[in-house]
Amino acid sequence: AETWSQVPLAPPDSIFKLSAAYKDDTFPNKVNLGVGAYRDDDNKPWVLPVVKKATKILLEDPNLDHEYLPITGLPSYTTAAAKLILGEDSPAIASGRVSSAQTISGTGANHLGALFLSRFYQFNGDKKVYLSDPTWVNHFAIFRNVGIDPLTYPYYDPKTIGLAFGAFLDTLKSLPERSAVLLHACAHNPTGVDPSREQWGQICDVFLAKGHYAFFDCAYQGFASGDLDNDAWAVREFVRREVPLLVCQSFAKNAGLYGERVGALHIVAPTVETAGRVKSQLSVLTRSEISNPPAYGARIVSLILNNPELFDEWKRDIKTMAGRIIQMRKELYKLLTEELKTPGNWDHIINQIGMFSFTGISPDQSQALVEKAHVYLTQNGRISMAGLNSHNVRYFAESLDRAVR
Ligand code: PLP
Repeated sequence: AETWSQVPLAPPDSIFKLSAAYKDDTFPNKVNLGVGAYRDDDNKPWVLPVVKKATKILLEDPNLDHEYLPITGLPSYTTAAAKLILGEDSPAIASGRVSSAQTISGTGANHLGALFLSRFYQFNGDKKVYLSDPTWVNHFAIFRNVGIDPLTYPYYDPKTIGLAFGAFLDTLKSLPERSAVLLHACAHNPTGVDPSREQWGQICDVFLAKGHYAFFDCAYQGFASGDLDNDAWAVREFVRREVPLLVCQSFAKNAGLYGERVGALHIVAPTVETAGRVKSQLSVLTRSEISNPPAYGARIVSLILNNPELFDEWKRDIKTMAGRIIQMRKELYKLLTEELKTPGNWDHIINQIGMFSFTGISPDQSQALVEKAHVYLTQNGRISMAGLNSHNVRYFAESLDRAVR
């Protein structure tokens, strides 16, 4: 037979397909609420002012070269990145129990974390991981790629358009001991629904009681509340209470460095000695996959994290992004409830957090929005709030109103 004749044609990635359809659409008022990337009020990608400054400093450095980074990444970057998520005063950092490796953004962190688990985690039986239902769809493929079977736990309740907390907690209790469970650290994708601190506390109780392993994915630190520390609260609480865990970190969204692929994996080990062994294996795994991570984005983030003035400026830039998104939530809510009197309850629009919102509309209604109104969103009714702005929020509210009537 012809070489590769047995290769089946894969379907296109649904999000990227949606973006392509949006691009081809010539309707002047088209709206793209599909892709999870920040846009400013003129629907343009936003290069953070602090990133522009850091880039200038970087490029003016007469000693800048293009040598390889160490296998586990730029040390000034990984050390500062660990502090950013785990906290300046983290007991795990103070006691030298954190093994960090620079990764190809958050996707690479998830992959390396999954690969490490697949190799070294003492699974209770078959290799399985439990993901929230729903979750970022790529999680399924990432775990399958390394031979871990992805299963789900209840998370979202379509009836309340909120957290299915009771079912979530009951499932955690009923899983075999030492199960590996993926948790979104904040700004859950795709629902925008996060547990409250009180609920996180109860989740943590069950992790401790059952000896579960927490696989935290943190792709939106700062995007949920506009405050980096606030958004890292759950991870830090789990560390404080000594739940075994790892954290996948991405600077794609909060630094707007999507294409530069700046991420890190941090594994918190029980002892310094274990952390050393873990790190040695992260190095071995990374060596065979990418040899060494890319330098450019990590150097920019390192400059921002290690310079107090740039760090403060970054925090202001994050507030600008998170603030605009929160403002859009308020405006959309107001239009739907006060002006258009759209049937149904829309409280979730302002209660949900971060870049995404689950509108609660049906796949047919979503389809109608795409086909009739040129409003592009995924079939599950998820909208990227960053795609809304002062120019299109009214058009979107009116289109949504029409779709649900
Ligand atoms: N994890 C979640 C939940 C995400 O939503 C994303 C991006 O959409 C990622 C990880 C990884 O993104 P990146 O690889 O661009 O950092």
